Amino acid sequence: MQESCGEKFLNSRSVFERRGQTPSLQCTGRTARGFAPAKRMMAGCLPHRHGSENKQKVERLVDAILSKGIKLLALDFDLTFIGIHTHGEWHSSVEELTTHVRPCMRDLLQHAQQKGLFVAIVTFHPLRWLIRELIHKLYPKKIAKHIYLQAMSHTQARRGSDDYVGKVNHIQKVVEEIAREEGVTINKREILLLDDDMANVQAAINFGHRSMQVQVQDKEINYSTLDSFERMLRIAG
Ligand SMILES: [Mg+2]
Repeated sequence: MQESCGEKFLNSRSVFERRGQTPSLQCTGRTARGFAPAKRMMAGCLPHRHGSENKQKVERLVDAILSKGIKLLALDFDLTFIGIHTHGEWHSSVEELTTHVRPCMRDLLQHAQQKGLFVAIVTFHPLRWLIRELIHKLYPKKIAKHIYLQAMSHTQARRGSDDYVGKVNHIQKVVEEIAREEGVTINKREILLLDDDMANVQAAINFGHRSMQVQVQDKEINYSTLDSFERMLRIAG
């Protein structure tokens, strides 16, 4: 029988506890369908359809994140913030790319920032300008300009041939930027990474961050996925 999200988490938790590590928080999901039109996304509002229900799910997760003392929420790009993997290329318009943004992740980033969290997109995607333009198409200017973005290639993120550390270097750059610009110090445990790649999740946990895997194989990623994240985050120590 297939394990539920909670069972997966609890099983992984005991393994990590034995290792003296923070558990990985996992949830299932696959590429989202039925995206909100770009026009509505540009308005920067939570969608009207099932609006209040979805809004509550976003709010509950952000409340749980805040209750854990997290200051920085970092999201991966391919298959996490958007529902496809671009493999570092994009030959269509930025408008077209907006149609692949997951509404739940779009709203999560915005609400998290409005509640006082620092938010960032951390990615191996080399086209930084593309993601920056996408952010500006999705959000009002006052939100967009405060979304941190670290787009480093695998090569740039490596410090040595045997020192592959997932998104740790990306996150460190964001932390340095926040310290420089805002004068705020963020420690390892005050950072939550959402990423579909388990290697990146594991690297973040090993380094001392918190991390949840967005599993894209089994189910659609939507606002209910955020509910699963919220429950798992509240279970975590
Ligand atoms: Mg990814």
